[in-house]
Amino acid sequence: MERTLVILKPDCVCRGLIGEVVKRFEDEKFNVIALRMLHLSVEEAEKFYAVHQGKEFYERLTRYMSSSSVVSMVLEGENVMLRIRELIGATDPKNAVSGTIRKKYALSGLMNVVHASDSLESANGEIAFFFNDKEIFHYQRREE
Ligand code: GDP
Ligand code: MG
Repeated sequence: MERTLVILKPDCVCRGLIGEVVKRFEDEKFNVIALRMLHLSVEEAEKFYAVHQGKEFYERLTRYMSSSSVVSMVLEGENVMLRIRELIGATDPKNAVSGTIRKKYALSGLMNVVHASDSLESANGEIAFFFNDKEIFHYQRREE
């Protein structure tokens, strides 16, 4: 079953939106199979977002991501990587489709509530950044 990595960013945690956002994922029948709260150091945020090194927003992004605690999680489900990208919406909420998480909750193109992996390859690397195999718990979803 496909997996992807999601981070609830500081603006999500600090505004009391953890439950709302996780509910959106669960309502779509994705299973949360790993979950942890942590406070990234600047160095960890720089490492996580290394693909953006050199971009004009890189320093703001890494400072922001280490400004407060975040919640990282692994979601599992069919086509979960692409479907979660659709569900969260465009990076800048001004460009996000109505009904998406970022359209509804994002404060700006930087403080946009949630990170989600953008390819299966990056999902693998990002999952390994936060979780080892013993911290990931596959289970069957029950609907009754
Ligand atoms: P994502 O995959 O949709 O999260 O977007 P990217 O991978 O392109 O960028 C990573 C994160 O950097 C985004 O989610 C934003 O928090 C931030 N970011 C991206 N582009 C911009 C920008 O143009 N301005 C600002 N201020 N932040 C940005
Ligand atoms: Mg990205």
